[in-house]
Amino acid sequence: MKKHNFYAGPSILPQFTIEETAKAVTNFAGTGLSIMEVSHRSKEVVAVMSEAQQLFKELLNIPDGYQVLFLGGGASTQFMMIPFNLLQKKAAYLVTGGWASKAAKEAKLFGEVVEVASSKDANFNYIPKGYTIPSDADYFHITTNNTLYGTEIRTDFDVNMPLVADMSSDIFSRPIDVSKYSLIYGGAQKNLAPAGITFIIVKEDILGKVDRAIPTMLDYRTHIDKESMFNTPPVLPLFAALQTLRWLKNNGGIGAMEKVNIEKAQLLYNEIDRNKLFKGTVSNPEDRSLMNICFVMNEEYAELEKEFLEFATSKGMTGIKGHRSVGGFRASTYNALPKESVEALVAVMKEFESKK
Ligand SMILES: *Cc1c(COP(=O)(O)O)cnc(C)c1O
Repeated sequence: MKKHNFYAGPSILPQFTIEETAKAVTNFAGTGLSIMEVSHRSKEVVAVMSEAQQLFKELLNIPDGYQVLFLGGGASTQFMMIPFNLLQKKAAYLVTGGWASKAAKEAKLFGEVVEVASSKDANFNYIPKGYTIPSDADYFHITTNNTLYGTEIRTDFDVNMPLVADMSSDIFSRPIDVSKYSLIYGGAQKNLAPAGITFIIVKEDILGKVDRAIPTMLDYRTHIDKESMFNTPPVLPLFAALQTLRWLKNNGGIGAMEKVNIEKAQLLYNEIDRNKLFKGTVSNPEDRSLMNICFVMNEEYAELEKEFLEFATSKGMTGIKGHRSVGGFRASTYNALPKESVEALVAVMKEFESKK
C-alpha cells in the first residue's frame, strides 16, 4: 500500500533527493568513494558547498550584502547564536508558538527581551496583529510558520530595525523578499534535507555591533570568513540539501511550489470546513498555515478521534497525529508532498464521514 507521508519533521523529501543521496552513499561524484568517507576539503565537497550557496541565492533572489551559511546545531542553536551576535541591550520577539517562546527564552540570557505580543492566551491559534515594537530594539524576531500550531505569517513586512525570522518550516514554500530581513534561519529537516544541517542567510552589515566577546564557533563572522568550512560541516545532509535545491530549480522554482502549496492547502482546508466530523484549530482563516494543517474532531464526534486515526493509518496516512500541545491531527504539506497525497487524505476523511 502506498504510504502518504504527512510527518511534521523530519519529513517528506523529494524522491530525487533520496535517490541521488543513496547513489552518493556508494559512489560520490565519480570518486569511487562514499560521500560519508571523503574529506570536506576535497574539491568535490567544496563544489557541493558552493553550488548549494549559489542555488540559495538564485532561488530566493538574495541581494548583494548577504551571506549564506550551512552549520550544525539545528535551529535551536540559532535561538542562542542570534542574541549572542546581535543583542546589545534589548530585543523584541513576537511569541506565536512553542518555538518562538524558546527563541525568546534564550535571548533573555543576553539582555532585555520585549515580547511585543503573544497568542499564548488562545493556545497560539492566531497570529497577533497591531502590536508596537520598541524603536530602540536591536532586532525584531518572528517565526514565520508555527509548525506545532499551524499558523503562518505569509507576508513580508517592513520594520525599522533588523528583522530576524525563523523559517525552519516554510523556507522555499513561497517567494520571499529577502531584502526585508536581516537574518533568516532554519533547521533543514522540514522542507530541505535530512536533520543535521542549519541554513542561515545573514546580512553582513548587522554583525560586529555588540560589545561582548563571542566564542569563535558561535560568531557568524568565523563562518562567513571560512565559507562554512571553519570546522567540518554536516557533509551528507549538505549533499542532500543540494539535491533538493536542484529539484526546486528544475521544477519551476519557488513560485511554482507556492502555486501547488496553495492548491494542496485549499483542498484540505475545504474538506475540514465541509466535513461534519472535523474542524480547523486556527481561529482566523488568513493565519492558516500552508505547511502544517491542524484539525480536530468536532465536539459531538470527539470520541471518534482514535478511531479516525486508526482508520486513516490503515489507509496509508502516516504522521497525521497532532502535536500533543494541540491534539487532534496535523497534516504537513511540505513542498515534496504530492497533491495526490492530499487527495488521498481527503478521500479518507469523506469515507470515514460516510460510515458515521
Ligand atoms: C522544528 C523547528 C525548530 C527546531 O529545529 P531544530 O533544528 O530541531 O533545533 C525551530 N523552529 C521551528 C519553526 C521549527 O519548525
